[in-house]
Amino acid sequence: MPLSGSAGSQGIQGSLIVLSGPSGAGKGSILKGAMERLPNLCCSVSVTTRPPRPDERDGEDYFFRSPAQFEQMKENGEFLECARYLDYWYGTLTSWVLERLQQGKDVALEIDVQGGRQVRARFPRAVLIFVMPPSEQALRDRLMGRNTETEESLDRRLNAYREERKYLSEYDHTIVNDRLEEAVEEFCRIVREEKTKAARGAAHG
Ligand code: 5GP
Repeated sequence: MPLSGSAGSQGIQGSLIVLSGPSGAGKGSILKGAMERLPNLCCSVSVTTRPPRPDERDGEDYFFRSPAQFEQMKENGEFLECARYLDYWYGTLTSWVLERLQQGKDVALEIDVQGGRQVRARFPRAVLIFVMPPSEQALRDRLMGRNTETEESLDRRLNAYREERKYLSEYDHTIVNDRLEEAVEEFCRIVREEKTKAARGAAHG
């Protein structure tokens, strides 16, 4: 299905919200908290070639697929955006997202900055939010606390963060996640504000 680019077209009612930032910044926790407060919000389930972590479930956290399966989906044009992040591929399913937007749902994509840029190009009215840790040390501590990273992968993730920060100016909003409750509040405030703006824009044609 083609995406001509903006909410309001093709019967699309909901808002598309991109949440980027390093893993460990708390994007997932912010979205979880926000979904409890904003009943219309849902979070896209991406496809990845990364193996599942012990607590992750196929179809809930990600659709876990082999590199060959991912490649085939890419060739079939199934992705709204996709990117390689460190050693693995990640992609957002166009069908998953469009279906929900057309039902009037607001859809959040938890994706990296390469993906954020692709979404903006295809969907100019998407709202782009970048989540930052309060400091690099705080990020390191959170990643270590997860016990899923080796020293090497931790360094690579911190380096990836330094790279991702360079895209910050392309984002509409920044949230510094120091206290989770406040970060969730801030996220909800931004979504409500953007929806009011979009509704005003639509009313004025
Ligand atoms: P993790 O392996 O920690 O789950 O995710 C690594 C990075 O990939 C995170 O920055 C996450 O936001 C990003 N990511 C997850 N799903 C997607 C996706 O569908 N597309 C893109 N571009 N990035 C994704």
